[in-house]
Amino acid sequence: MGTPRETTQAQAEAVIDRLEAEYPESAISLRYSNRLELLIAVILSAQCTDERVNQETEHLFEKYDGAEDYATAEQDELATDLNSITYYNNKAKYIRSACESILEDHDGEVPDTMAELTDLSGVGRKTANVVLQHGHDIVEGIVVDTHVQRLSRRLGLTEEEYPDRIEEDLMEIVPEDGWQEFTHLCIDHGRATCTAQNPDCGDCVLADLCPSSKGDSEIDLASGDPW
Ligand code: SF4
Repeated sequence: MGTPRETTQAQAEAVIDRLEAEYPESAISLRYSNRLELLIAVILSAQCTDERVNQETEHLFEKYDGAEDYATAEQDELATDLNSITYYNNKAKYIRSACESILEDHDGEVPDTMAELTDLSGVGRKTANVVLQHGHDIVEGIVVDTHVQRLSRRLGLTEEEYPDRIEEDLMEIVPEDGWQEFTHLCIDHGRATCTAQNPDCGDCVLADLCPSSKGDSEIDLASGDPW
């Protein structure tokens, strides 16, 4: 198996160095032109690909212009406008309700604190972290999506299973000025090489320091199951 660095902190730094070299242009892939569009795109992206969300929001953001348009939309009409997205009915409800709160409690502006954001419908800590980072330039945590969750466990950076606990571990070992970048690097590598079902360990820049590396390791540390 690959040999991880002696400490999880050194392991995290080595992973970042390698992935930075591999993905120098790493960035958020959702498309948006203001904070509300960002919030809506992130709500829609739960258990859905960014590519699909970008396709759907292209027409959505032309039709709906601002929180009032969403808050006053008919549920059925908004759901139909989102119907290529997973869980579109629930997401339409979340968006209408979140926009009502934004109008009633926040003067029509997307709030800029974790507490206020996570009070909005459909917004958990992951979504709030994305909106804070990319909408408000506030980095107070690490976005733990499915790629970050999987790669962090495969690479031995955490043994935790749940995103909030994984985030706590990562915040201890990833340098603070790399919190935002770390997510994008994991997403890029998770899409390109370290995929959920069939990671290409033979062509992976992290193989020599990855304790899950196929061929060497019997176990996928992300799931705890044999490869
Ligand atoms: S592709 Fe394989 S070697 Fe690379 S990080 Fe994923 S599990 Fe480890």
